[in-house]
Amino acid sequence: METEIHPLEAEDSFNFDCHRQVPCFNACCGNLCQILTPYDIVCLKNYLRCSSGHFLERYATIRTGPATGLPVVSLRFDQRQGGLCPFVGPDGCTVYPARPGSCRLYPLARGASFDPQGKPREHWALIREPHCRGHEASRTRTIPEWIHDQGLDDYLEFNDLMLEIIILQNRSGRKPLAGSRRRNFITACYDLDLFRQQVVNGSWGSGQEPGGRVPSAASGDRAWLNFALHWARQEMGGSGHES
Ligand code: SF4
Ligand code: SF4
Repeated sequence: METEIHPLEAEDSFNFDCHRQVPCFNACCGNLCQILTPYDIVCLKNYLRCSSGHFLERYATIRTGPATGLPVVSLRFDQRQGGLCPFVGPDGCTVYPARPGSCRLYPLARGASFDPQGKPREHWALIREPHCRGHEASRTRTIPEWIHDQGLDDYLEFNDLMLEIIILQNRSGRKPLAGSRRRNFITACYDLDLFRQQVVNGSWGSGQEPGGRVPSAASGDRAWLNFALHWARQEMGGSGHES
């Protein structure tokens, strides 16, 4: 059996369950290209109690999208361990409360596009991979139930903002992001602790100042990530303020 992708409508339901007793337990936590979003990194670095800079250095790979110059950040899988996720252990995911959005979403895939008014539109699909036995479960779920059960609301909210930034760069027809613009983009979107430090101490080196109200130094990561992503949206030619 080959991997199958079945488009779903928002009101569709599907059969799936995943727990420690499935015969394929942990089979999906290796040999993946696990893209990390800005919000994934914030959740993981806080769970691991390390800085965003340390997280990127130790656990991430940053490649460059050839057409846009935008960074593509992914989890660095351990090739010495057969390409396993650095966070998988014998009892499952060791960062489960902070696992990335894509791990929460599986076996669903979600795409989003924006209509001419800038309103996001969701597209859903069910992924059926040969090794995954979760589809044999009798338990039926709807997409909203899955989103709720997996704690995905915040992930989707921040991911939509990131998607809008990517679409803006794609549509701009500008040269790929490079040099200091690219470095600043990586800092703002993926190295939040450094971004906050630079904005607070006045050394933020971008030609474009962040628009909107600067959060206080004591504000939490959500407020700072929101601010950083709105700076990135402004940098890509969109509005810098919260809509
Ligand atoms: S983060 Fe956790 S759930 Fe995701 S691939 Fe790694 S071990 Fe599996
Ligand atoms: S049921 Fe699917 S998602 Fe769950 S452990 Fe098995 S392969 Fe992974």
